[in-house]
Amino acid sequence: MMKIAIEELAGCSGCTIAVLDLHEVILDILNEAEIVYSPVIMDVKEPPDEIDIAFVTGAVRNEENMERLKNIRKKAKTLVALGTCACYGGISGLSMLSSNEEIFNTVYRGVDTVKEDGVIPTDVPPFTYRAFAVGDLVKMDYYITGCPPKEQYLKQIIPALLKGDIAELSRKSVCSE
Ligand code: SF4
Repeated sequence: MMKIAIEELAGCSGCTIAVLDLHEVILDILNEAEIVYSPVIMDVKEPPDEIDIAFVTGAVRNEENMERLKNIRKKAKTLVALGTCACYGGISGLSMLSSNEEIFNTVYRGVDTVKEDGVIPTDVPPFTYRAFAVGDLVKMDYYITGCPPKEQYLKQIIPALLKGDIAELSRKSVCSE
């Protein structure tokens, strides 16, 4: 059985939810493959050493993201950028329009859902000097764009990846509708 992982970098987890939201197709996928790692859907701290297909969601915005990306690249035979943040920087890339101080003030003090003490934690991983799309840093095998990727494309692409039939996929752009 194929082993699938989904790694989370700087993003909103919406891409992982899009995979889970494939209705009956997720059952077909799980007949062919086992999800062995996904911080969003299971309590596994580290990806296993041998992974057939790993999807990476989110951009690289801090040192921890960078380390996770390099780690999953070493462990996965096939590495797929999943979603616009991973492919191009996306929403996480927009953080480059603000200073680190402005970002931390907004996240930890400026929104209604933060803790009332307004304390900015000191143990968050350091930001990289800019946001990176994952393909800027490691070799990717495939890119699936969309924020999040559309269900109709995931329903074609994931089963094709599992069967090794990726060359048969339509090359139609996700923007063509
Ligand atoms: Fe979230 Fe969109 Fe980024 Fe996916 S591409 S992690 S849905 S913001």
